[in-house]
Amino acid sequence: MTLRSWGQLPAQPAADERWWGDRSAALPSVDGSMLAYGNGRSYGDVGLNSGATLLHTRGLDRLIAFDEQSGVLACEAGVLLDEILAIFVPRGWFLPVTPGTRFVTIGGAIANDVHSKNHHRAGSFGCHVRRFELLRSDGCRRLCSPDENAEWFTATIGGLGLTGLITWAEIRLRRIDGVSMAVSNTRFDGLDEFFALNTAAEASHEYTVAWIDCLASRPRGIFMAGDHLGGGELAVAPGKPLSLPLTPPFSLINGLSLRAFNQAYYHRPLPARTVTHYAPFFYPLDGIARWNRLYGPRGFYQYQFVVPLAARVALVDILASIAASEQGSFLAVLKTFGDVPSPGLLSFPMPGVTLALDFPNRSAPTLALFERLDAIVAAAGGRLYAAKDTRMSGEFFQRSNPRLSEFLPFIDPKFSSNFSRRVL
Ligand SMILES: Cc1cc2nc3c(=O)[nH]c(=O)nc-3n(C[C@H](O)[C@H](O)[C@H](O)COP(=O)(O)OP(=O)(O)OC[C@H]3O[C@@H](n4cnc5c(N)ncnc54)[C@H](O)[C@@H]3O)c2cc1C
Repeated sequence: MTLRSWGQLPAQPAADERWWGDRSAALPSVDGSMLAYGNGRSYGDVGLNSGATLLHTRGLDRLIAFDEQSGVLACEAGVLLDEILAIFVPRGWFLPVTPGTRFVTIGGAIANDVHSKNHHRAGSFGCHVRRFELLRSDGCRRLCSPDENAEWFTATIGGLGLTGLITWAEIRLRRIDGVSMAVSNTRFDGLDEFFALNTAAEASHEYTVAWIDCLASRPRGIFMAGDHLGGGELAVAPGKPLSLPLTPPFSLINGLSLRAFNQAYYHRPLPARTVTHYAPFFYPLDGIARWNRLYGPRGFYQYQFVVPLAARVALVDILASIAASEQGSFLAVLKTFGDVPSPGLLSFPMPGVTLALDFPNRSAPTLALFERLDAIVAAAGGRLYAAKDTRMSGEFFQRSNPRLSEFLPFIDPKFSSNFSRRVL
């Protein structure tokens, strides 16, 4: 099979794809470079290595140990968050931080230092990693934690897979009393209303997120605040996901379908409070397996940025630029990051507001729009999320990651990716 990124943008395949399932094995000696591939849920090219070697890590799928008192789980790096949930939710444990899909590996979650709807309380995934083993191409194995090889720990969390192969890791799970979530839903009209709702909700809710309709003449959306629910009220478990069996010959996402979807979503009946199973709350897109095929063979881009709250006016300019370009997005997700520091030198989260938008690949007009958006994000002192990126310039990446020079010495000389070759 050819390993691809989630955005399905055309890219030259790896020359050598190896299934990797033995954590005690040495890394292969290869002619070119190598890179770990988790479960391919990064939209862009951080997980691609065209013309060279990819080590498919899903074979590293064993659980190693669990401490029932502290919630510390040791497992191999190819274990999926989905597999952890299936085993530990019935025992009353949940992930401390989870991205918007449960089909990512532990190694991928660490390498991109992923974030969730609880960033304002819990920080990023790396904040809950106790330690891991890092295997380098020279055969050296390092145990990395905040106290041991701490500089390798901070380089590898959010290190985009460039410091070597994570073979196993220990993360701390959190207690829950049931599978249900209590969620409050509020429609808002305009960004000022979003920020007012968000400030109030962050003080009293663990999870907050908003969906915005960026095709409307003025940004409007739905704000959701959620908490795990104990005891009585039980939500119904979702059924088996639907699946898109093949890639249609053209994109099913166009101006018309986007506008219709966004309108319908905004105007759907919206109870002020719902009780729902955790899966649709955290992973609404996992309800349709391979939904990324909707965009057809040319694929799509996701553009996710963060800007400091003081520069949040940049959001207005960005949304206006998108509206003027007539290239819309459905499911634009708006969220604030809190001030819990991320442990990684290249971690994406920083205090501020982040927006993620999907765009069908229309080649030149789409790339021209991104150039305009980059200029606004850069002027606001923000940065782009590498896990979602396929096209940012090296200059922008280097300027917007102030700790890059501290990170560079930790790159394994035999590891690289399409992303690293483009931006470094
Ligand atoms: C629907 C959807 C929703 C998402 N929502 C969010 C979200 O809310 N928040 C968020 O932060 N992200 C989100 N993402 C992005 C996703 O969480 C990240 O891209 C994640 O890193 C993907 O993990 P993966 O296991 O698929 O790794 P891959 O995408 O295969 O690889 C990602 C990186 O990890 C490296 N890597 C993988 N395994 C190892 C290893 N064992 N050792 C060293 N390096 C390794 C790879 O080299 C690569 O650089 C979302 C993605 C999708 C598709």
